[in-house]
Amino acid sequence: MAKVKDEWTIDKEEVKNKMNEMTPTSTGVLCPRRNLTGSCVVCEKIKTFWDEPDNTPKKIAYRKYKTMGSFFFNAVKPEDPETILTIEVGWKSGSTIMDSMNDDEKDWSNLHHPKANVGYELKIKKTKRDGYPFYDTYKGELFDWDVSDEVLKNIPDISRDALSKNVISGELQRSNNYFHVKNLEMEQTITLRVLPNPKKKRVPPIEFLFRHWGGVTKEQVEGTEAFDPLRDIVDPAKDKSSGDVNKSIMDSGFDGASNKTPVCFGSTEHYDPSDDDCSKDCPYFEKCGKAIAKAA
Ligand SMILES: [Zn+2]
Repeated sequence: MAKVKDEWTIDKEEVKNKMNEMTPTSTGVLCPRRNLTGSCVVCEKIKTFWDEPDNTPKKIAYRKYKTMGSFFFNAVKPEDPETILTIEVGWKSGSTIMDSMNDDEKDWSNLHHPKANVGYELKIKKTKRDGYPFYDTYKGELFDWDVSDEVLKNIPDISRDALSKNVISGELQRSNNYFHVKNLEMEQTITLRVLPNPKKKRVPPIEFLFRHWGGVTKEQVEGTEAFDPLRDIVDPAKDKSSGDVNKSIMDSGFDGASNKTPVCFGSTEHYDPSDDDCSKDCPYFEKCGKAIAKAA
């Protein structure tokens, strides 16, 4: 039966727009400064906060609102070599990949090579370090097969421009061909074959994006809406129950942050009881939920 499409038929674009409205802030907001596209009011307002003592409102605000970077690359799984996935990893794992491509001894310069016995496995294992999820990122065995021409022809664009659009709209995250390594089970390892950049052969096949979280809006980043970084911060000195938590967070490690703090603590955007990474793996899950309830 032929599909009827007329003036009543729902427009796919309109569905997408509505779906984007459903998750307005959970995709983060691009930081123009770190993505090298302009200046950023949020960064400007918190930049002097970073060297404040731990456990002070300014330092807590800094950790809540500072930019966080993720890396993206295309890959196939060896057990399903015709299905292209776009993989997201945290800053530490992505930096390990970049550093290893740069390191003469490790020499990962053929990480994305599509030919048999040249390209090799990228392995990422989700494990725990100091009580926090950590993504061990290392090189595996050589592949004894070529990446198919069909796959090479269809590698998605993950340029900064393409990512800015598809990640912020949430379109990439909703796709069946997207995987964030945080969704691995604890102690699970994923084995991937990294695919080359679709346009250029000799460039790193990986791109990064910096986003602000913590409920910051695009308008605040651009300076057209007021942003007071201290407005929603609970001062631990005046709030005994959260003081201990903040103190121990400051001393702990967490993947995805350049310093050693789960910046997501107390952030409604990150708090997700349906996400095992958050609810099962994080020792601060319960206290985080209480902090959010208190701030609400
Ligand atoms: Zn910024």
